[in-house]
Amino acid sequence: SFRRFHAHRVLCLAGDGVGGELLEATKLVLQATGVNFSFEDMDFGNACARQTGVPINEDHVRAVEEIGCVLKGPIDIHAGSASTQVELRGRRFSSANQALRKLFQLYANVRPAKYLEGTCSKFPGTDVVVVRENTEGMYTGEEVWESPDSVVATRRITRQGATRVATFAFEYARANGRKKVTAAHKANVLRKSDTLFLECCRQIASDFPEIEYTEQLCDSLLTGMVLHPQSWDIILCENLFGDLVSDLAAGLVGGLGLAPSALYGDSGVSIFEPAHGSAPDIAGQDRANPTSMLLSASRMLQHLGEHTASRALEEALAAVIKEGKHTTPDLGGTVGTQQMAAAIANRFATAW
Ligand code: ATP
Ligand code: MG
Repeated sequence: SFRRFHAHRVLCLAGDGVGGELLEATKLVLQATGVNFSFEDMDFGNACARQTGVPINEDHVRAVEEIGCVLKGPIDIHAGSASTQVELRGRRFSSANQALRKLFQLYANVRPAKYLEGTCSKFPGTDVVVVRENTEGMYTGEEVWESPDSVVATRRITRQGATRVATFAFEYARANGRKKVTAAHKANVLRKSDTLFLECCRQIASDFPEIEYTEQLCDSLLTGMVLHPQSWDIILCENLFGDLVSDLAAGLVGGLGLAPSALYGDSGVSIFEPAHGSAPDIAGQDRANPTSMLLSASRMLQHLGEHTASRALEEALAAVIKEGKHTTPDLGGTVGTQQMAAAIANRFATAW
């Protein structure tokens, strides 16, 4: 069929630390799915900074614009690293990640956390998707010293910002057969900002009658996620709450090595990347768990309309983790990143 000859273009930005190892493992598995890809690699982060002095430049922005689908590793964003403070298109950004997120208005950060048998998770039944607003809320970067002893940080909620991320969450629920969206909030203390946030969520919820809509105070949500992890479905959050809630969700299912993420907006650009950082403590040792990037790649397959391959990838991955013979040290196993990926790829060879 036509499809077999049509290659999906994917821009690959390995990034720093374990990024290169994860990308190598992920490409191996993606190729084993039988879907046709055209991977286009660019140095990004420290690898780019070593040659050009900056971690990201106009070439990256143009490539992202043109290709639209980005498979990305983490970058080193610690103070003093090459990626802090970049300037692009006349604007300043606190990191190369921030530059991509802001330039392409990637306002919806999706972080799924699903229990897999064979992991160290103590919370079977967990299957939540955190949809985190990624452009406003508490993380707009608006912090001002009022005096030597006082700083004001702005928490910005806009009708447009809340409405677009709420719309995304409900459309995601509908497209993925999800049943419920819970808006996390603190409207009892953040009376104006979170009242507006909830107002926007309710308005959108009314357009999706088949999807249950609930609201939950963010503090009690955290307790509830630990006590009854299986009661949550999609959790819709403002930026800061989403940051915390999604890290808790990653902990419920066994840690950062298992945590994928996907960034979406309306610009036609999407980025698929592990939710964790560059993991410098294990970089270059072939110890990183490839699951975080593999599950990100599975989101990418869905985005590209390759639903069968996405399902097959997740099944092969789950089988290898469950079997426990070819898993990385964080999963209690003894093999390296590439060997775990090879074991997953081999499952396709036998399954097809
Ligand atoms: P950042 O500030 O960039 O988010 P961080 O300080 O939070 O970074 P990470 O790089 O996210 O740190 O790593 C946190 C811990 O999780 C480290 O001990 C790291 O080795 C571990 N870790 C992260 N990713 C993986 C992975 N894919 N496989 C195994 N362990 C991982
Ligand atoms: Mg971190």
